[in-house]
Amino acid sequence: MQLPPTLLSEEQVSNRVTQIAEEIDALYADTEMLVLIGVLKGSFIFLADLARKLTIPHRVEFIAVSSYGAKESEHADPVRLIMDVRHGIDGQDVLLVEDIVDTGHTLAYLKRLFEAHAPASLRTCTLLHKPDRTEREVDLDFLGFTIPDVWVVGYGLDYAERHRTLPYIGQLPPDMR
Ligand code: 5GP
Repeated sequence: MQLPPTLLSEEQVSNRVTQIAEEIDALYADTEMLVLIGVLKGSFIFLADLARKLTIPHRVEFIAVSSYGAKESEHADPVRLIMDVRHGIDGQDVLLVEDIVDTGHTLAYLKRLFEAHAPASLRTCTLLHKPDRTEREVDLDFLGFTIPDVWVVGYGLDYAERHRTLPYIGQLPPDMR
């Protein structure tokens, strides 16, 4: 199988994830229990690595979202929740963990949704961000890398379910789609 060219190497990603974990450890040093909420499927590898590098007490939840199709584009938000957290988050410190922020719609929707559950705090963490694609501004409290407007795969990210478990972040050229 032809492999996509590297945008960010395994070592670059690993080093940056270590730094983000240190930033999170520092900010939440006094937190009793940080709730990490990973957005499936794309964040599962990032969250697994990040969580194992944290030294503060934390627990892990996963949620899943799906995009509305074009026919439903009259919805204000082109995103909906298809799997919710198992345990309540009210009064808790919550960190939403995303693989990539593209237009910003997903994270904007999730922030609004979880704010309604009255957490003690709600912050966001994303490994990748494509600022050129922004349609909705969302505060990114922890950010791995800013990348150009290219389709990336690997480290949890897929293209039609392919390349998700590549150990690095690759850039998928149009002729490989
Ligand atoms: P947003 O709502 O910010 O436009 O989109 C976020 C979602 O779009 C991500 O969670 C991811 O599923 C998908 N996405 C956006 N850009 C890429 C990309 O370059 N590669 C992959 N694999 N998914 C992407």
